[in-house]
Amino acid sequence: MDDRDGFIWLDGQWLAWRDAKVHVLTHTLHYGLGVFEGIRAYHAKNGTAVFRMQEHTDRLFRSAHIMNMPMPFTKDEVNAAQCEVLRKNSLDSAYIRSMCFYGSEGMGLRADNLKVHVMVAAWPWGAYLGADSIEKGIRIRTSSYTRNHHNSTMCKAKANGNYINSILALQEALATGYDEALMLDHEGFAAEGSAENLFIVRNGKIYTPETTSALEGITRDSVITLAREQGFDVIEKRITRDEIYVADEAFFTGSAAEVTPIRELDNRKIGSGSRGEVTHKLQTLYFDAVNGRLDSHSDWLTYLG
Ligand code: PMP
Repeated sequence: MDDRDGFIWLDGQWLAWRDAKVHVLTHTLHYGLGVFEGIRAYHAKNGTAVFRMQEHTDRLFRSAHIMNMPMPFTKDEVNAAQCEVLRKNSLDSAYIRSMCFYGSEGMGLRADNLKVHVMVAAWPWGAYLGADSIEKGIRIRTSSYTRNHHNSTMCKAKANGNYINSILALQEALATGYDEALMLDHEGFAAEGSAENLFIVRNGKIYTPETTSALEGITRDSVITLAREQGFDVIEKRITRDEIYVADEAFFTGSAAEVTPIRELDNRKIGSGSRGEVTHKLQTLYFDAVNGRLDSHSDWLTYLG
């Protein structure tokens, strides 16, 4: 990733991609205390547009607040960098990664002279779960790792360290022949995927876990909004793994994963074992929204202009 042409924003400066480096004593590298965002920009109907940028920036600032990290930039400054990174790198569609981290000003848990640094980078990224996944769906397994407890690392923050748990679960899923992990919370209810929110469809109703142990996903919110506008009941509740086995449909949502059907959990086919009708409908609406084809949600897009 580091050997590329292009530009990365760090603390208000544009650095050549290859020069955007930190010291090995960077505090966040040692202890994982940092917060970040993953945002997509699409080559939409009227030009390049960032999807729900303000909501992502708001969540970045909420994450920093939860983690007690004072933000050295305003939301407007971060938004400007998130747009400019696309122009600087001549990207008409991309994944944008913004992150706040502690630098190498001090070491140890008691360091009290740390500064919050902010970086923004962007690069092209296709379907996160593979080109076929959007159409055919994925096979997932229940993870042997319990999702982070909200009193241990706090799930409302998109915090760097939270992803140790995600990576362990994902690596286990991949090593045992699945595409993704389903993570259960400490009480054994479905929480989310390693980087996606979960939905199921049963008897025409849509269910998704409450966000007690899951990230407040922006794609989740978009899909709930779109589904309700279509007249679907969307119910937030605890979901057990066997409820997913007997669901008619299931899918994951995420900025990277977009709307990805789940065709199998723990070797049980879900519904027909292919992309369900409701999933397809919501997926189509979601892609319409991100690509600027949905006038009712044009406010979700920030065009570069
Ligand atoms: N849960 C986790 C753990 C995630 O990392 C993500 C991706 N940010 C999501 C859910 C989905 O969130 P969003 O739709 O905002 O990308």
